[in-house]
Amino acid sequence: MRDWLSHRVRVSPEGTALVRSTSGESWTFAELDGMVDEMAGRLAALGVASGDHVGVVLGPCVDYVALIHAAMRLGVTLVPMGDRLTAPELRTQVETADVTVLVCGSETETRAVEATDDVPVVSVDAATTDEVVSVRSVLPDPVTPATWTRDDVQLLLFTSGTTGDPKAVQLTMGNILASAVASAFRLGFDPRDRWLVTLSLHHMGGIAPVLRMPLYGMTVVLREEFDAGAAADDIDRFDVTGVSLVPTMLRRMLDSRGTLASSLRTVLLGGAPAPRELIERCRDYSIPVYPTYGMTETASQVATAAPDEAFDHPGTVGRPLMWTDVTVVDEDGDGVSAGELGEFVVRGPTVSPGYYADPEATAAAFDERGLRTGDVGYVDDGGRLYVLNRVDDRIITGGENVDPGEVADVVRSHPDVRDVAVVGVPDAEWGERVSALVVPETDELDAAELTAYARERLAGFKLPRVVAFADELPRTVSGTVKRDAVRERLSGGRE
Ligand code: ATP
Ligand code: MG
Repeated sequence: MRDWLSHRVRVSPEGTALVRSTSGESWTFAELDGMVDEMAGRLAALGVASGDHVGVVLGPCVDYVALIHAAMRLGVTLVPMGDRLTAPELRTQVETADVTVLVCGSETETRAVEATDDVPVVSVDAATTDEVVSVRSVLPDPVTPATWTRDDVQLLLFTSGTTGDPKAVQLTMGNILASAVASAFRLGFDPRDRWLVTLSLHHMGGIAPVLRMPLYGMTVVLREEFDAGAAADDIDRFDVTGVSLVPTMLRRMLDSRGTLASSLRTVLLGGAPAPRELIERCRDYSIPVYPTYGMTETASQVATAAPDEAFDHPGTVGRPLMWTDVTVVDEDGDGVSAGELGEFVVRGPTVSPGYYADPEATAAAFDERGLRTGDVGYVDDGGRLYVLNRVDDRIITGGENVDPGEVADVVRSHPDVRDVAVVGVPDAEWGERVSALVVPETDELDAAELTAYARERLAGFKLPRVVAFADELPRTVSGTVKRDAVRERLSGGRE
């Protein structure tokens, strides 16, 4: 199989591939194909060849889109890295993924140089230092599109690092193709779709639509910098039909514009639990929200709920996608019945073969039964999944098990609470104490009032014993709450 764009360009060269929302510029598949050929040719002229691990530290931009398809054309493995990472964090990822060449832009050039010793650094812009070569400084070599087999590793993608250091997940051509087809089977993408991409391209939610665009023949509308109001306006201006968002982004878009344009057919919401009131707002405004559960190790979606399903079954992330099996197991790895809590285990063609060069971490998560997700939840009688929390997040206080999600739902239902994270903080007497970091809606809210409110709705052992306030919750770029940072903050919190 060759890169998907070289197939698409034969079918619909005049279809719109890409729109840059800030300037309104657009590129047809034929034009994108030309840019990709040029990018691939320049990289080839700089010595990039099959077998390379091409690291990328770049914010979302048109060059990045070209680079993603150029990597497929060249037959190299792409290693997208966070464009806001510090130089030491980048260095760790460069080393972990055995990056052989690092691509940066003017904003990230200094950090890219600091993060590397022997690895060549290439800029998509004009380079400002001697250590960096600009792709523009060389003439492109002619490139013959590479041939891919199912097991070739297309991406090394880092997890968000919610539970520890980010892990480099190997995603094969087979994983990514299976995920693209299963997703289309459920959601029905086609050339009439215009997908707004405003998530970072170093996570599956952001890169997936860019990779899949030539496969479906759809248009990607790229918003390079997320801004809630502007993203909502993009939907209106460009008749956007679909968008992938993390819950905080959707909430901010609704806060800023009230509702979203009626051209929208699909709002994929994932990466972190969707608060109930957000789903209720979507119902009230007829926003076609698809709560989605997935992870880097499964090349994005595992399950998705259709809007009606989400409205009728609060908290569900729906049924598994085609080809994917999800089982719920207890601590011994034995399956549990419908309605019972356990850890999700995922099997299917989208599941990664493992973490790159890390047999220990791979053995801990992957075995013949599937991928142990580390996520706790249950399946209802209708086969719908509900994700509650992570295995590591359970709070055990005085021997009682507390689900932090349940406590968070109660605290969040207080009218003066905007957001909350509930964690266990180590405690000499109780093992752990239930603790809450609260983002208040007003200055008037105090801890005593909140505790009294919770006391009416929760058993005593579930009550937050430590309550602190903050302007924002610390989050990863995927929207998940950095629980370690919350725990740290609450260890010194007010009682
Ligand atoms: P790390 O593996 O490094 O700790 P991470 O698991 O957050 O980080 P990702 O692969 O980006 O990295 O995120 C996948 C995780 O996000 C899932 O395992 C799950 O815990 C969480 N998640 C995704 N979608 C949902 C959802 N709809 N509801 C609740 N949690 C979700
Ligand atoms: Mg994970």
